[in-house]
Amino acid sequence: MEITSEISTLKNVGKKRTELLNKVGIYTVFDLMEYVPRDYTDRSKFSALKDVTVGEEAIVKVRIKSKPEAFIRGRLRIVRVTVYDETGEAAVIWFNQPYLKNTLKPKDEYLITGKAEIYQNRLTFTSPDFEAVKEEESINTGRIVPKYHLTKNLNQKLLRRLIYDTLTELEPQIKEYMPQKVLEQNGLCSRIFALKNIHFPESDEAFFQARRRLVFDELFLLRLRLLTVRGEIKKEACGIPYTFFETDRITEALPFKLTTGQQQVIDEIIEDLSSSSPMNRLVQGDVGSGKTAVAEIACYLSYINGAQSAVMAPTDVLATQHYQTFAPLFERLGIKTVLLKGSLPAKDKREIKKQIKSGEADIIIGTHALIQKGVEFKELGLVITDEQHRFGVNQRHLLTAKGKNPHTLVMSATPIPRTLGLILYGDLDISTITTMPSGRAKTDTFYVTSAYRQRFYGFILNQIKEGRQAYIVCAAIEENEKSNLKAVNSYIKSLDDTCLRNVRKAFVHGKMKPEEKQQTMNDFAEGKIDILIATTVIEVGINVPNASVMLIEDADRFGLSQLHQLRGRVGRGEYKSYCILVSDTKSAPSKERLKTMTKTADGFELSEKDLTLRGPGDFFGTLQHGLPPLKIANLYKDGEILKEAQNAAQSLYEDDPELKKSPNEPLKERLFELYEADKITAPSL
Ligand code: ADP
Ligand code: MG
Repeated sequence: MEITSEISTLKNVGKKRTELLNKVGIYTVFDLMEYVPRDYTDRSKFSALKDVTVGEEAIVKVRIKSKPEAFIRGRLRIVRVTVYDETGEAAVIWFNQPYLKNTLKPKDEYLITGKAEIYQNRLTFTSPDFEAVKEEESINTGRIVPKYHLTKNLNQKLLRRLIYDTLTELEPQIKEYMPQKVLEQNGLCSRIFALKNIHFPESDEAFFQARRRLVFDELFLLRLRLLTVRGEIKKEACGIPYTFFETDRITEALPFKLTTGQQQVIDEIIEDLSSSSPMNRLVQGDVGSGKTAVAEIACYLSYINGAQSAVMAPTDVLATQHYQTFAPLFERLGIKTVLLKGSLPAKDKREIKKQIKSGEADIIIGTHALIQKGVEFKELGLVITDEQHRFGVNQRHLLTAKGKNPHTLVMSATPIPRTLGLILYGDLDISTITTMPSGRAKTDTFYVTSAYRQRFYGFILNQIKEGRQAYIVCAAIEENEKSNLKAVNSYIKSLDDTCLRNVRKAFVHGKMKPEEKQQTMNDFAEGKIDILIATTVIEVGINVPNASVMLIEDADRFGLSQLHQLRGRVGRGEYKSYCILVSDTKSAPSKERLKTMTKTADGFELSEKDLTLRGPGDFFGTLQHGLPPLKIANLYKDGEILKEAQNAAQSLYEDDPELKKSPNEPLKERLFELYEADKITAPSL
């Protein structure tokens, strides 16, 4: 047997078990070994019968005194045995499992786990878990026992047995790939120790060491991989060299003067563009910091160097909005912008694709539609993805592959806790827009309970009377008796007997057709609607500077980063803006989070807070998208190991970027094993 062997080559694994194992993601022996338990039960400590506390769960190691009795009482079929250890006796009964009569053997030793009660004056366990104790196979009892994620017909005992046997057999073949120096400097245990003890920990301490090693490896290898990818990208020359960097024409065409933060980032971009290797840069900037203008200038630079630019946004609405900002600006400069999205009629799509291919279109804005097969560019020199965390690394590279080593620019407003940025965007250089456009009044944030409903509705009405507009965000689309959340669909009706009954209202949510959504968004942008009721579909990028109120219902349902994004939809113009968080939550941590929102406007600070108060939750659900899923590391809890792994990967990479030195060879092999199938650098369509 080898590590790379298919699971079906194991003895005791036939067709059926292969299918079951495949279902939980186990295809090879290697997968099986790395199938990390989801939890453990400590079955290493038993109580003597005399020490069992009535009403509390206990594990006892006992023998069966005599043949089990089976009898019927009412509708119940009962099996009863008397068990004993050196300290006493107890009764054990099971209901409706008559076969146990033949399973349980007198004199055999069993481990019984359950709650004991006094029944008919005797200590009695009712329907406890039990397992036979056999010295030679102590993998289910008498130790810390792993619990795995299962699927129907795949049980713990089977998995434990398979993993145990495989580890035992493979032990001589499991090689250490981590250079000795890294192991020493970071105080890591050996790989074989880690694998054995993650499944069958000898002790709490051994488990801790094992887990630390595996978490370290996972993060270290990922980071090293991203560093090498970056190295590879840098090595290749870009297909279209850029030689012109004069931006006056476009900056003069913009309706505002660039902030110093924007200017700095543009300078960094120009420096990248003037190098012979492709730019690979992430532009981070809080919501409203003006990332769009930076993208526009990058596109302009591409244009004057004879190259096309592609701008990919995660949603239809956002792509359209970008188009509406880009098109008029560039039209004045004689530069042609087109919009390609899935919801266009086939005829239009065909026409636009033709323009992209012929080079008639200079700037191409679109959704995922851009990465489809039929889209071909004439001279793609720059790829920009907006709100990067919505796209995977691979999607980004799919678009890049349509050019000849084009420059890439990634824009993200999601404030990523600093400690995680490197792992998540390890293959990118990072620029941050540090300033906000001036003249923006800070958005005042209030946290209120629904008791204030009439008052804040009155406040919104006043804003509308002054010519402003408002967003109301609900956590649900439809009402649901159980959850009791405010819902988008019924919200307008609920305003019928409030002061807002006569203002113009509309709603949007993710389940609507793109055209409907777009129409409503356009109406709102044009001021034809006073209040837009929405789900978090409006969270990303929507820009309506006249809107001055963001009201969020059931605000405790959202993470801080998400609330911050939502709040960023207002305060985008010259008007004083307000964010009202409504919540009746009784939970102290939730209240704490909402209070934090009223105190700080800094997205980074909020994202760090979010992590400490709430854990990674959905935040990383989406963020991780596009990275290989982490099997064991928890980016939230393992912050310390993450730092160590990052530092170790960084210094190893700096010392030996191509992993050519002999102590690093096994590591190089391991990276290859892990990522060979992952076509990060050479995507093919
Ligand atoms: P984000 O970084 O969230 O994508 P946008 O690019 O949408 O932000 O910009 C937010 C708003 O700020 C837009 O209305 C935009 O026109 C405006 N804006 C951008 N840069 C400046 C600037 N330098 N001065 C004034 N307003 C600006
Ligand atoms: Mg934006």
